[in-house]
Amino acid sequence: MVKEAKKLNEQIDELKKNDPFADPDHAIDNAAVDTDVREQVGHETIEAEIKDLRRKLTDVNIALEKMRKGKYGYCERCGLLIPLTRLKILPEARYDVECERILRK
Ligand SMILES: [Zn+2]
Repeated sequence: MVKEAKKLNEQIDELKKNDPFADPDHAIDNAAVDTDVREQVGHETIEAEIKDLRRKLTDVNIALEKMRKGKYGYCERCGLLIPLTRLKILPEARYDVECERILRK
């Protein structure tokens, strides 16, 4: 799980590097309009991906915190154990499938 958090941080850093807006030349280039549009789209895609990764990282950190407290694997909503099959797919899961579905409504 700690490894997972580290990996997510690295992915976020990597994405930031790929963001065309992070390019130091961006501000001074006089690129054609289509390049600007492409950069805009690229920027927004990366922003969205970073947002996704950040959300995941938050969940991983919460999972780590729960491990420290000995509460890992328990649903935060109903308090029941999250099935191992689910944790194997989604180690940072905070809720069991039922509660996740209710909360997402
Ligand atoms: Zn639950």
